[in-house]
Amino acid sequence: MKRERLLVLGAGESGCGAARLGKVLGMEVEVWDQGTIREERIRQLEALDIPYTPSCSKDIPSWNPDLVIKSPGIAPELPWIQAALKKGLPVVDEIEFAAAHTQAKLVGITGTNGKTTTTHLTHHVLKSGGVRAAMAGNMGRSFAGAVADDLLADPNTVPDVYVLEVSSFQLDGLFKTRFDVGVLTNITPDHLDRYGYRMENYVASKMRLVRNMDQRSALVWCSDDAYSRQGLDQLQQRPFQTYTVSWNRSSSFGGGAYTLDSQLQLEINDELMSIPLNELALVGRHNAYNSMAAAVVAQLMEVRKESIRESLTNFDQLEHRLEKVGRIRGVDYINDSKATNVNSTWYALESMDKPVLWIAGGVDKGNDYTALYDLVASKVKVLICMGKDNRALHEAFAGKVPVIVNVSGMQECVQRAYQLAQKGDAVLLSPACASFDFFENYEDRGRQFKYYVNQL
Ligand code: ADP
Repeated sequence: MKRERLLVLGAGESGCGAARLGKVLGMEVEVWDQGTIREERIRQLEALDIPYTPSCSKDIPSWNPDLVIKSPGIAPELPWIQAALKKGLPVVDEIEFAAAHTQAKLVGITGTNGKTTTTHLTHHVLKSGGVRAAMAGNMGRSFAGAVADDLLADPNTVPDVYVLEVSSFQLDGLFKTRFDVGVLTNITPDHLDRYGYRMENYVASKMRLVRNMDQRSALVWCSDDAYSRQGLDQLQQRPFQTYTVSWNRSSSFGGGAYTLDSQLQLEINDELMSIPLNELALVGRHNAYNSMAAAVVAQLMEVRKESIRESLTNFDQLEHRLEKVGRIRGVDYINDSKATNVNSTWYALESMDKPVLWIAGGVDKGNDYTALYDLVASKVKVLICMGKDNRALHEAFAGKVPVIVNVSGMQECVQRAYQLAQKGDAVLLSPACASFDFFENYEDRGRQFKYYVNQL
């Protein structure tokens, strides 16, 4: 019998995971990348005897694959992909491929901000509650790689539930995948360059989360979020169950979670549970939303309430997300390097209860800073601009912050913050911008911040 031919485009974590799964399934696999392929990936592919081509300019239809897996970083407009689609070749995301080869239930978590946090938290709450849950997706381990491992493992140890972080780029490559539970954290402008600079295209992409959901599925979404509401309102039909998270219990509330008197309230099918907000492990209003979403998923998966309460309060903080680095001479240093858009910085500033020295800037993707004006006016005493081009920040905040300084690099930045801060202040790195002007990525930016803070 002819072996199925799998062509994987992109030799990153998801591409190599897909290639491994293809191999485990007995397919004929090749991996192509239009750029270079990292040494460690090459070793992985060679160990599995999978042919690979870096700097590849070959033509996809000529290889004649049965299935093409596209890594999320590869834009669908690329002539490569267009030629494959024109030929009628199926081009899907690695998540779709993996989903077709596992019996586990799938929890898909998407949204502009809060995906990684909510994914980790949900996984933690499920696992602590006795559910055999594993985590994969956009961050960390690829789903396909995990499924490949499961197929080779003892069936008694494979997960019953996969908690998957799904980016909108990944959603764009899903056609048949049905999530048992979908979580939509929020939708705010980001990545618009990939969506023809049209917000409605980005919203539509996020709504692909629910496209195959039926009566067996449930959606957890934030009813305080206008774009999510707009996306849901535009759906032709909603056969799945819906649960909401919101700050207040709305008149149309039909199950989910909200806050009341500084308590997180979980209310599903007339069952009620509450947890004081100040006992949650993750601080800030945004994390209250994330905690609510994780609690709802756990309740839907029948985790005991006592266990949900305990695991939401004992979760360890995540690196680069409002991460407390330390207190030096009475000044708190906080690393929120992952805040690469205005909305996430809004939540970081909102959660501050001390005068703030705010470090912002980097590669500005056309930010509109007006949403930050009120918070900045009431909380920020110093703005430290850390980008190659700081004009947009100056234009937005001149006259609104008492002191604005420019720095060109992390060492100088931390030194300036140290000089300008007074006991009782907080130094917050929450850039609202991408990091590629001075740093490799947001992790590099956050680690450099921590390094220089620890040198003080
Ligand atoms: P993502 O994986 O979607 O990028 P993360 O959990 O890594 O999200 O958080 C990214 C940034 O957004 C962090 O700065 C974090 O403080 C902030 N954030 C986290 N959750 C939310 C939320 N629900 N709403 C808005 N901002 C959030």
